[in-house]
Amino acid sequence: MSPTIRETLAEAERRVPRLEAELLLAHALACERSHLLAWPENRLKDAELARFQALLAERVRGVPVAYLLGRREFWSLELEVSPATLVPRPETETLVERALARIPADRPCRVLDAGTGSGAIALAIASERPRAQIFALDRSREALAVAARNRDRLGLHNLALIQGDWLAAIAPDSLDLLVANPPYVAESDPHLQQGDLPHEPRAALVAGPDGLDALRVLLPQAASRLRPGSHVLIEHGHDQAENAARLARRAGLGDIRLHRDPAGLPRVLEARRPS
Ligand code: GLN
Repeated sequence: MSPTIRETLAEAERRVPRLEAELLLAHALACERSHLLAWPENRLKDAELARFQALLAERVRGVPVAYLLGRREFWSLELEVSPATLVPRPETETLVERALARIPADRPCRVLDAGTGSGAIALAIASERPRAQIFALDRSREALAVAARNRDRLGLHNLALIQGDWLAAIAPDSLDLLVANPPYVAESDPHLQQGDLPHEPRAALVAGPDGLDALRVLLPQAASRLRPGSHVLIEHGHDQAENAARLARRAGLGDIRLHRDPAGLPRVLEARRPS
């Protein structure tokens, strides 16, 4: 006889945390997690058990839960994610908060999210600032396809997608705000072998020997693409605040500020193109 929901979860819990077992089982059964708790004595159908066992094996191999479910919540938005996109992180909500503080709610504003991936940052901003005109840019067409599906499913029509190599094709003096969560991990960082990172796109994580290569391109580009007097906000590694500020100054940006994430770590550089 096939196992019950309770037995299946008890068995799985020996290999993965309880919450993950529940999320994967709910996914295999195409039901809400609450259903598992309400009907623990229900028996799985063979196909359901096979689906669950396949998901569990992938998870034990290290595949991120978000990729197995095909979704992750960010800024209270349900987003599709795939191995073509980074899994959105909670600390990136700090960047969204700072961006919203710079975008007026009552008039148009041109905002560009460079390296948008699943579109998480751009969509969070689009949902909060319907009058803003948001551009979500990425080099990866696979990532842009995910971002497009997220935009369409969420019905956020104030967002346009652009394929490009950072800001190379963006007109000078054209942006009121630039935001980015670029790759910032150093090539040799042992962190790349841990947790979800081995399964995430390397191009979304790694930026040269010191993790600063993307900033070396983006900050000088920002200095010319922003309208004079406009701001850039960029997420960085917890130990990169000083280097990020130095690169911003070297690019001719000023009014440099550093923002911390909820864990208290330096996480977002803010700078302004002089008027
Ligand atoms: N915050 C991610 C991590 O180190 C890195 C994301 C990025 O490079 N933009 O887990």
